[in-house]
Amino acid sequence: MTGRFAPTPSGRMHMGNLFSALLAWLSVRRQGGELILRMEDLDTQRTSAAYASQLRRDLSWLGLAWDRETPPQSQRTAAYQAAFARLAPLTYPCYCTRSQLHSVNAPHAADGSYVYDGRCRNLTPAQQAAFGRAPAWRLAVPDTTIEVMDGVQGLYRENLRRDCGDFIIRRADGVFVYQLAVVVDDGEAGVTEVVRGRDLLSSTPRQMYLQTLLGLPHPKYYHVPMLLSGDGRRLSKRDGDMGLETLARRMSPQAVLGRLAWWAGLVETPAPVDLDTLVATFSWEKVRKTDIPVTGEGN
Ligand code: GLU
Repeated sequence: MTGRFAPTPSGRMHMGNLFSALLAWLSVRRQGGELILRMEDLDTQRTSAAYASQLRRDLSWLGLAWDRETPPQSQRTAAYQAAFARLAPLTYPCYCTRSQLHSVNAPHAADGSYVYDGRCRNLTPAQQAAFGRAPAWRLAVPDTTIEVMDGVQGLYRENLRRDCGDFIIRRADGVFVYQLAVVVDDGEAGVTEVVRGRDLLSSTPRQMYLQTLLGLPHPKYYHVPMLLSGDGRRLSKRDGDMGLETLARRMSPQAVLGRLAWWAGLVETPAPVDLDTLVATFSWEKVRKTDIPVTGEGN
């Protein structure tokens, strides 16, 4: 089997990223598979090579070694272009502005984005030309329900037309979106198992639909709980005390691993632990399903 860790190099790692990374790593090592590292740097404004280097150092400090690194998404435009060309019969240009989209479209059932009403689907060539600007490109979706049998969250289903709507696969500035890139990259790398945060569960039906269209197999999915800060927000770079920058100064790698493994439900106490012990005892059945508040010293 082949697993992967696909971080966005937009800052220093924090406990939330490491939590997903550890579970992805443990699952692969437990099965004797191969682990791929891939930098998801499509957003060139927010990401940098310096952050990517730091991220590799942080993973290494924790002992989470990977077997192979595949090219970062910023260097994969030709592969995304080829997939986009294959999907051409199902795509159409969309000229809607951001404010139009938010005013006329119903919210996406799961993640607060909108369900596109398809208003640009039937524009004539003359109407398209009249906009006089570059369009985004949407994939027209059928009235089909996609079922995700998630290894942690159980069954998740979405009707593409009703719950999601035609979705953008290429932005007006020419950049291919994450949904397409992740499917192309995982497919080419032969990824059979995807472990990532629960916030991406609602993206999975779109990704599975793209896999079907592109003739790629569906990987097995495990969407792990999110770590939450004191006010119930998802842990982020703003929570400096949960960043590796601070933690690595006062905790050993084993102490960080012990904390992560305890939050995950893998061990009984938050005491320091090493990776060999965690691999020997890892099983997905033990992993918590619900989000985990992690503030305060006792945590
Ligand atoms: N790059 C995404 C992130 O850092 C993860 C995407 C994925 O695992 O599919 O949140």
